[in-house]
Amino acid sequence: MEFVKSKKGKEKVIFEGYVYVKQKKLAHGVVSFECEKRRNKLECKAKIKLRGVNLVGRLNNHSHGPDPARREILKVLQEMKKSAEETEEAPQQIISRSVSSISEDAKAKLPTVHQLRRNFRRYRQVVNNPPPVPLNISLPS
Ligand SMILES: [Zn+2]
Repeated sequence: MEFVKSKKGKEKVIFEGYVYVKQKKLAHGVVSFECEKRRNKLECKAKIKLRGVNLVGRLNNHSHGPDPARREILKVLQEMKKSAEETEEAPQQIISRSVSSISEDAKAKLPTVHQLRRNFRRYRQVVNNPPPVPLNISLPS
């Protein structure tokens, strides 16, 4: 059971090679998660229910197999986001370090370097929250 956050800040959990997205809170501290493939063409209906890190229920079988590369990708994207937010390292440096740590299979499924670099700009904008650029108005003297 591993918890990760997507780049949009959604809580996800990786369990037995499947990725689930947080769906809703239920009574007694139980949270339901649905398979992340529910909303694509597979329409997988598998769900799990967790209380903290404990599995307390599961519903429906997956309509597809597990995807181990997906786990690596989620983890590496989370790492990159963290490095982008917490360090001043150049995006290229962070990307090449992160990419070197994953399998060939995961590499093939990773977003392109171009897309990754765009993510970096977004992460850093959020973190640094730059003040609005003052308008450069020259008054007649
Ligand atoms: Zn599924």
